[in-house]
Amino acid sequence: MPLKKELGQHLLVAKGVLSKIVEFISPQESDLLVEIGPGTGNLTKEVLKYPFKELHLIEIDPQMIERLREEIKDSRVFIHQADASKFDLCSLGENLKVFGNLPYNVASLIVENTVFHHRCVPVAIYMLQKEVAQKLQKGAGWLSAFLQTFYSVEYLMSLPARFFMPPPKVQSGLIRLKRKKEVPELDLKEYKRFLTSLYALKRKALKNKLSESLLLEAGIDPMARVESLSVEKVLLLYNTWQKARGEQR
Ligand code: SAH
Repeated sequence: MPLKKELGQHLLVAKGVLSKIVEFISPQESDLLVEIGPGTGNLTKEVLKYPFKELHLIEIDPQMIERLREEIKDSRVFIHQADASKFDLCSLGENLKVFGNLPYNVASLIVENTVFHHRCVPVAIYMLQKEVAQKLQKGAGWLSAFLQTFYSVEYLMSLPARFFMPPPKVQSGLIRLKRKKEVPELDLKEYKRFLTSLYALKRKALKNKLSESLLLEAGIDPMARVESLSVEKVLLLYNTWQKARGEQR
């Protein structure tokens, strides 16, 4: 079957790596699993060797779907033809373990969608482009901050391009997201809007984006750049900003 580049179709073919990833997923009898972008089912078939309750596959390509339906005959598996960057994960259950060798062109959108559904996703294990994986773990950016507000991010391993068919132009990295014990109750859309404008023009001093009095109230140097703030500080800043807005009304 010809693979579609525009859908980020780079199949993981290295057996050793596939079983290593499944060890990280570590499926348990009671697990509700969700795989994003199963493709031809290389990773899926490794997972099927384990006990679990349900496995939901979310794949956008009708040809891949057809093939999965032909090849996977397991009553625990449910196949959904859908866009994983928009999929309502919480419609599948309340305690999901999500994983996938993600299509790299929309990987950020899939991570963002995961955060929007953090209430029902305590754990996710994703393969993405190495630089993106590293940035999500320790870099400064709106999505890193958005993600780290709700999840701790572990970098598990790097993978060279030769483990994929066809090999992508970039290296890959595997990360694990673990939801934090205490997550703030936030209006996620508003928080996202706040973060995207806060992280725009990263090199500018914060006083160009927010009032000095607000920054001082949050205990932040108005001359500081957003890149230097911890996630805790960013969240504090958001709460301070929100409170000030509430008082203005
Ligand atoms: N997991 C497989 C394939 C990974 S390639 C393996 O490791 O071998 C990425 C897969 O994601 C492809 O099958 C592609 O069709 C699918 N895909 C691309 N965009 C998608 C989207 N928006 N939602 C769901 N699946 C998508």
